Amino acid sequence: MLLILHPDTPRDSEEYRQTMSFLDNLENVEVRVHDVSGSQQTLTELYLIGDTKALDAETIRALPAVERVIRISDDYRILGRHRYAGRQSGFDYNGVHFDQDNLNVFAGLCAVDNPENVEETLRVLKANGQVCTRMGAYKPRTNPYSFQGHGSGCLPWVFELAGKYGIRVIAMEVTHEAHVQEIDQALAEAGQPTGVMLQVGTRNTQNFELLKAIGRQSTYPVLLKRGFGITLNESLNAAEYLAYEGNANVIFCLRGMKTEAGNPHRNMVDFAHIPVVKRLTRMPVCIDPSHSVGTRDKAPDGLSDIVHATAQGLIAGANMVLVDFHPNPEKALVDGPQALLPSELPQFLEDVQLCHDTYQKRRAIWAGSED
Ligand code: PEP
Ligand code: MN
Repeated sequence: MLLILHPDTPRDSEEYRQTMSFLDNLENVEVRVHDVSGSQQTLTELYLIGDTKALDAETIRALPAVERVIRISDDYRILGRHRYAGRQSGFDYNGVHFDQDNLNVFAGLCAVDNPENVEETLRVLKANGQVCTRMGAYKPRTNPYSFQGHGSGCLPWVFELAGKYGIRVIAMEVTHEAHVQEIDQALAEAGQPTGVMLQVGTRNTQNFELLKAIGRQSTYPVLLKRGFGITLNESLNAAEYLAYEGNANVIFCLRGMKTEAGNPHRNMVDFAHIPVVKRLTRMPVCIDPSHSVGTRDKAPDGLSDIVHATAQGLIAGANMVLVDFHPNPEKALVDGPQALLPSELPQFLEDVQLCHDTYQKRRAIWAGSED
């Protein structure tokens, strides 16, 4: 059972105290408290876990701090929407807001290679008004002989440079719990010049021990990639692992599905699932056109397939774009052939904004037509 409290109910109010003392006395019911910070207000939600079938919803609704009681019958108890379109979504991290309505762009290096390329990337991003980026330090590779990323060794200079160029959030994949501690330590030693969003890659979507470990910390939000060969339901359940352990600041990333039918793209682009993820859950939805499409090839109209796929995702309401960028893609150690070029960034960002604005206009056209 999910209880939504009246907006901005203070923890030290009499209403909150009375509500909690009633709930704490229920037998075999555990109460978990979770704050959801929207752009206007903070909502406190209480999750009642355990023996809740016998509870009388009317009695609970009458508790002084409670505004709404929702019986949860579906999957994704914490992250799910449970057919309540008004359920608040979103969170703030290091001065950047993420929700199911807004948009953030994370262009950057698939893999950190050297300080010169990191600095040039960040310089171009700053010149284009960007405050978020992607930087791969720990790279899961198919081939054990391929470059595996610089790991913790690059973190001090990556974080320092990010701070120098005003970057607020870096999406960075981690493949082991120890990487989170390394990030913690490097950020602390550098004086917290920037923030990190922990990325769980498609090869680790169902690495449950990794999910549990990341879910137990709430310092960093999480970008969870959809598993490339499992059902959407299985991937959304993986996201729920993070929330169940305590971290509901999760963004869900579509990155294409592995199937021969996707050829000549690297993966079958799955951005038609954006509205589905939004209907089923409260997670902001990210698209990764680079790992979906995997090539810089262009259509006869002069636009690359990556740019077209990005537009398709944004028109459908994507909230974040994770895109590979490299100042010198021929020299990139990983995924150079799919990286955006510095000369393309201004047009890319203009196109992204146009598509997001068009999505908002599409919403306005259809507003009021819900049944
Ligand atoms: C990546 O974003 O660098 C990456 C490896 O993506 P994925 O896990 O989607 O393959
Ligand atoms: Mn890559």
